[in-house]
Amino acid sequence: MPIDLTLEYDDQNIFAKILRGEIPCRKVFEDEWALAFDDINPQAPVHVLVIPKGAYVSWDDFSAKASDAEIAGFVRAVGHVGRVLGLVEPGYRMLANIGMDAHQEVPHLHIHIFGGKPLGPMLMR
Ligand code: 5GP
Repeated sequence: MPIDLTLEYDDQNIFAKILRGEIPCRKVFEDEWALAFDDINPQAPVHVLVIPKGAYVSWDDFSAKASDAEIAGFVRAVGHVGRVLGLVEPGYRMLANIGMDAHQEVPHLHIHIFGGKPLGPMLMR
């Protein structure tokens, strides 16, 4: 079910548990600001999720409330993950779902990184 963004941050969400090490993940990258790991249900040959270390429900929440250092650290981490995965030259797609219409399911900001094949048009019609 997509989430209601009017709700407070839920520290029992699945990505909060992954950040605390309570649930395993296949880690791709980690630094002070971000954790990147394989999506459990990949939609492309490469499908990685990058999440901030801070407790933010969505891109909306993060862009409004995160510190400049958190925003810079996270944005740099997302770019770094694309480079580490070797996706820059062939190209890749990044995407964040925000709220109900976008069908955001996990209420902790996550950037999807897709790659590893030509990805086709941006949205289903
Ligand atoms: P959303 O629809 O919120 O943008 O995407 C949530 C993503 O999280 C989905 O692509 C889903 O496969 C992934 N996901 C959900 N639960 C888990 C989990 O426990 N581990 C990992 N690695 N990915 C998950």
